Amino acid sequence: MNTSKLFETKSTLSFEVFPPKSTTPVESIYKTIDGLSPLNPDFISVTYGAGGSTNNATISICDVIKNKYGIEAVAHLPCINLTKEKVLSELEEMKKCGIENILALRGDINPDIEPKNDFKYASELVDFIKQHGDFNIIGACYPEGHPEAPSIVEDIHHLKEKVDAGCSQLISQLFFDNEDFYSFREKTAIAGINVPIEAGIMPVTNRKQIERMVTLCHAKLPKKFVTIMEKYEDNPVAMRDAGIAYAVSQIVDLIANGVNGIHLYTMNNPYIAERISSAVKSLF
Ligand code: FAD
Repeated sequence: MNTSKLFETKSTLSFEVFPPKSTTPVESIYKTIDGLSPLNPDFISVTYGAGGSTNNATISICDVIKNKYGIEAVAHLPCINLTKEKVLSELEEMKKCGIENILALRGDINPDIEPKNDFKYASELVDFIKQHGDFNIIGACYPEGHPEAPSIVEDIHHLKEKVDAGCSQLISQLFFDNEDFYSFREKTAIAGINVPIEAGIMPVTNRKQIERMVTLCHAKLPKKFVTIMEKYEDNPVAMRDAGIAYAVSQIVDLIANGVNGIHLYTMNNPYIAERISSAVKSLF
């Protein structure tokens, strides 16, 4: 199923998982999917390590999600370190498994890996996929602006180019202040970006995770959030519960403000996804 059709009738709740590290058997992910599947997500997306830190089992995991669990799957595909030939073989693999949805990404630039130079930006990958198959293409977007972009205006200008190249829906980077999302949504509407945008929500349940996220995504931490985290950082259970409560309050506010959907970064933790889903399921 083309996941962009879901937004015609409802707000969506989707999950993101990542393949296990290359040192861990790929089958370990199925325990996570076993836990997520009773929560009836609209789709599950599977990341793809641009730097090769995971065993790049993205497509085989999507295959199982779709064909064994009967849940729609979205395969992430970052292009910066892939040749056109490799992308073509990944697309063929997806066609064989019946995977219809791709999150087309540039991928983060890793100073230790020489980019392949076949694709510079995600929009080039979107264009390439369009020419080589009948896929629903999704793009990434950044409510606080992409960290490399000189300004949010320039970033939205390039986002419009990416959507015009063929994205029919967007999934946002995580953020902790909903006002950033609302302001971004307004700017995208002014720029003529009319595709559904799912809001990316990450429940933060420990201090190390926050530090990693801030370094990786440059996400701004609102004062309210920092106060909660400082108060509970030495109490793991309280910290977990506070992180879940914060994510739930963000989702309630987003749904009340007419968001197209929520994309939950599950961190492969079904317990946390279950707590959040059950708290908000009547809102969808
Ligand atoms: P692009 O859309 O290409 O944008 C990258 C930068 O280039 C932006 O600053 C943009 O403004 C600028 N730009 C775009 N076009 C032009 C142009 N024509 N001229 C000048 N500048 C331009 N990474 C992974 O490796 N694997 C994953 O599975 C993964 N999943 C993700 C899922 C989500 C929901 C999100 C939000 C991110 C994910 N990422 C993943 C991270 C992503 O790859 C990085 O954020 C990356 O730095 C940018 O990818 P992009 O597809 O948004 O790039």
